[in-house]
Amino acid sequence: MINKYSNICMHEDGHDGGAAPENCTHDCSTCGADCASREGGIQKAQLNPYSSVKKVIGVVSGKGGVGKSMVTALSAIAATRNGYRTGIMDADITGPSIPKMFGVHTKAYGSDYGILPETTPLDIKMMSINLLVENETDPVVWRGPVIGGVVEQFWTDVYWEDLDVLFIDMPPGTGDVPLTVFQSIPIDGIIVVTSPQDLVSMIVGKAVKMANLMNIPVLGLVENMSYITCPDCGRKIEMFGPSQAKAVAAEYGIKLLEQLPIDPILSQEADLGKIEFNEGTQMESILEVLDDLGLKAE
Ligand code: ADP
Repeated sequence: MINKYSNICMHEDGHDGGAAPENCTHDCSTCGADCASREGGIQKAQLNPYSSVKKVIGVVSGKGGVGKSMVTALSAIAATRNGYRTGIMDADITGPSIPKMFGVHTKAYGSDYGILPETTPLDIKMMSINLLVENETDPVVWRGPVIGGVVEQFWTDVYWEDLDVLFIDMPPGTGDVPLTVFQSIPIDGIIVVTSPQDLVSMIVGKAVKMANLMNIPVLGLVENMSYITCPDCGRKIEMFGPSQAKAVAAEYGIKLLEQLPIDPILSQEADLGKIEFNEGTQMESILEVLDDLGLKAE
């Protein structure tokens, strides 16, 4: 009938198998129509009352392994270095890699204000399932609704204190869990990460349509692993042929924020938990996004 987690009426694309009532606005929070789609709608989760988070940016990808966590980490680092109070919520519950990239292996603990996020040397606040499970190599073998519930708790129960921007490393794809996250957390916009071998047009199209359905703006596209620089002659080599990122961004009317090369040093630093020590300027394009969102650095 309708996605039971949503307050968005799905009549438009026929998911409920029924016709739209007259005057249906496809948004149950504004629509006066009395219809079955209204049943079971959920509200946005309430942020921990002790936290203050000005803007929330979701980082999404069509599938795992394209560098979504890397782009999340680099964006958070660029924002922090430029004076924004920044946090990362690692919502990729079954494949959490944020703590490892930052070399955080401690456990989160509670306080009167809520669960305390870890703080990195640069002062990025972070929460991940790996800060809560006893052994970080244990797999999370939970069903979608349980995973969705945990992510929601990262919003309601974590003491984020006072953030300008919270980046959410979203679960990959457009399945049950990302949908729940989109619907329960008030996301101000998403950044789509693709890689050149990733059937860019189709993946971007899916992400853009999903975001449109949720009324969430797409803030930009990042093509990761776009090329490699020859260590001998410095020439840019596009291993998967000429990049389609520019054309695809134009096709969907979104900004191409950055094309990141494959950088073996970056990947080594991420593996060693030293991503913050990289002195590059990758993902500084995020500053323009933050500016567009009306955020001002301190
Ligand atoms: P995802 O979050 O999409 O699953 P990750 O960000 O975890 O992907 O990246 C997958 C792997 O690729 C990691 O080992 C990461 O260090 C590496 N990686 C990602 N982006 C780059 C890059 N631009 N250069 C080199 N290695 C990268």
